Amino acid sequence: MIPTQFEYVKAGSVQEAVSLLSQHGDAKLLAGGHSLIPAMKLRLSAPETLIDISGIDELNDIRRAEDKLDVGAFVTHRTVEFSQEVKDSCAVLAEAAAQIGDPIVRNRGTIGGSLAHADPAADYPALVLALNAEIHVTGPSGERTIAADGFFQGLFETALADDEIITRISFPVLASGQGAAYEKFPHPASRFAVVGVCASVSIDKGICSAVRIAVTGAAATAFRATDVESALTGHALDENTIADATKRVADPADLNGDMFASEEYRAHLCNVLARRAIARAATNA
Ligand SMILES: Cc1cc2nc3c(=O)[nH]c(=O)nc-3n(C[C@H](O)[C@H](O)[C@H](O)COP(=O)(O)OP(=O)(O)OC[C@H]3O[C@@H](n4cnc5c(N)ncnc54)[C@H](O)[C@@H]3O)c2cc1C
Repeated sequence: MIPTQFEYVKAGSVQEAVSLLSQHGDAKLLAGGHSLIPAMKLRLSAPETLIDISGIDELNDIRRAEDKLDVGAFVTHRTVEFSQEVKDSCAVLAEAAAQIGDPIVRNRGTIGGSLAHADPAADYPALVLALNAEIHVTGPSGERTIAADGFFQGLFETALADDEIITRISFPVLASGQGAAYEKFPHPASRFAVVGVCASVSIDKGICSAVRIAVTGAAATAFRATDVESALTGHALDENTIADATKRVADPADLNGDMFASEEYRAHLCNVLARRAIARAATNA
């Protein structure tokens, strides 16, 4: 199918993108187009106007500012994958970006587009939740920051308003004693996560002082495995402790089941991938 007819405009700045969003009632921002264009071709989405944000330089850089790594919303998965700044500050992000789709998807798809789209099988949602990232957005009334914990609200649903644009995502730089890892069971064709688990741990004198574990692909939206986090906090992350804590990461009744993986199989993947991600995060700390 081909998309319904639409108007195309190009924004030169964040402010211009915001005012174009307000001017054109039924408009969508166009970033890499790797989620939006397929949805338009399937007529699942039929915006009257597309606002191209590819020419906005301020959305396209990666900067380290003290203990934060700021990634612009228009930064592609490929740039994240190969950025030395990302590898030095928050290597798990590069590790996850390298596992997204195929080279064409990684060359075009952007981190802001992925978060705004909130596909239940996307990789970055697990990363922003486990790393406790902040999502910076700009709208008609100015800028605001949304904590990762409050960003994903349901299937393809986020805390972003229709007239807001994601400008950048701030990730904490991983300090000494902190480690993170991402484990994914990819769909064999698309490489989307059938299940993906990101773990981020802080180890102090051999004891886990803080941990965040987030799961994507398994349910309508990415979620944190808070029971597992509680079971690990205050303990040494040895093999038995990790195995005990990851026996039931999620209840199959809360998970998606489809022709690729049943609810029970996804629950099993959650346990296995959480165990691996926590063990590797602890080794990296
Ligand atoms: C074959 C295939 C395989 C894929 N495999 C994976 C995978 O393994 N893992 C994975 O995570 N993803 C995967 N993807 C999705 C891919 O990563 C998309 O590129 C990404 O999800 C959307 O980013 P985009 O830049 O293409 O956004 P677009 O498609 O341009 O936009 C998506 C949505 O986000 C909105 N938007 C875009 N930028 C902003 C912004 N800055 N602020 C506010 N709203 C914005 C748009 O208006 C639109 O509603 C795959 C896609 C394809 C086609």
